[in-house]
Amino acid sequence: MSVPVGLASEFGRAPSLDHVRVTNADLQGITKALLEHGGSVVARRWPCPSCGGMGTRVAAAPLVGRGQPYGRIYFDLDRLLAPWPIEATRLELDLLVAHLMLQRNMRAPVARCANCDLFYVDWPYDQGRVDEFYASRETNGIMLNGVEVSGRGHIATFVYSKIALPLHVEALVGSLRGKTVFDLGCAEGIMMEAFRHLGAHVIGSDVDRGKVAYARQVFGLTGIDERPDAIDHQATESVDVLVSYHTLEHLIQVDSWLSSMTSVLRPGGYLVISVPNVVIRSTGEAVEMGGDHLIGFDTASLRRHIEAQGLSVVDIKSDDGSAPLQTSDSILGLPNWSGRRVDVTVVARRS
Ligand SMILES: [Zn+2]
Repeated sequence: MSVPVGLASEFGRAPSLDHVRVTNADLQGITKALLEHGGSVVARRWPCPSCGGMGTRVAAAPLVGRGQPYGRIYFDLDRLLAPWPIEATRLELDLLVAHLMLQRNMRAPVARCANCDLFYVDWPYDQGRVDEFYASRETNGIMLNGVEVSGRGHIATFVYSKIALPLHVEALVGSLRGKTVFDLGCAEGIMMEAFRHLGAHVIGSDVDRGKVAYARQVFGLTGIDERPDAIDHQATESVDVLVSYHTLEHLIQVDSWLSSMTSVLRPGGYLVISVPNVVIRSTGEAVEMGGDHLIGFDTASLRRHIEAQGLSVVDIKSDDGSAPLQTSDSILGLPNWSGRRVDVTVVARRS
């Protein structure tokens, strides 16, 4: 028999699994293996994936919270699924496992590193699996001028979030006319386009080829590097503003990335980092952890890691989403310094 109908809808625009044939016995077997392996993992303590230090468990988070194919990040699916040879692509198998994890509400402890202050999912971190996840990140989209592109330019709140941050930066540091702005993790280029409208010379990088194609086709942006190590190919001291919006929480090796970002800044240049703000709810849930967020920040930890690069924090804003924002700090109830609730945004200056 087939996987229950409706599976595809939980994964939004991900491929349908309706054609994948799996018996109920196989589904039960895979679920049992997932729970057993997950249980043995959770019984042990794991080091911080960023610095290798040990932490204290402070909360828990769903391994799959947003209906996305994250099974491959947490499990060696080739090994785990070997007893059940199912005719499906790797992405389909990943979606199937994610569905079962979601169905059983599989959660992991979240720890706070005693050494570097980051939050991390207390789970064995595997660089190879994470690299593979991002390497196959290309998202399916629509045809535009004969090119397959993928982007979120039709989602008003998303577009607003990508415009709010450039305006916040300009208000803090002054005119960006003629300045070079590098957007690390630029996706479909909406923020780059906003900086361009403010007069900046914009360059950027992203590994999602579908989104980069959108940036090129829709905005005509040309200066986007798709290499994962694009920042290391950027000349040192060549950038006036390095902006990274909702990217650092995916990069894991926080300090080496921040070091690379800092090294491309001209003296007097600005580093702008915006990430989800990890909030521990009274229910014991760590909001914004789990899924592809293996690490996370709050105001204190983000400040600490940025200051460790020798940068001076000029401005820091955060919101835990619990109360209405000050009118002066918001547009349409969303922060005018990030465009998204439950974020933390830091602007820091290189001396
Ligand atoms: Zn650490």
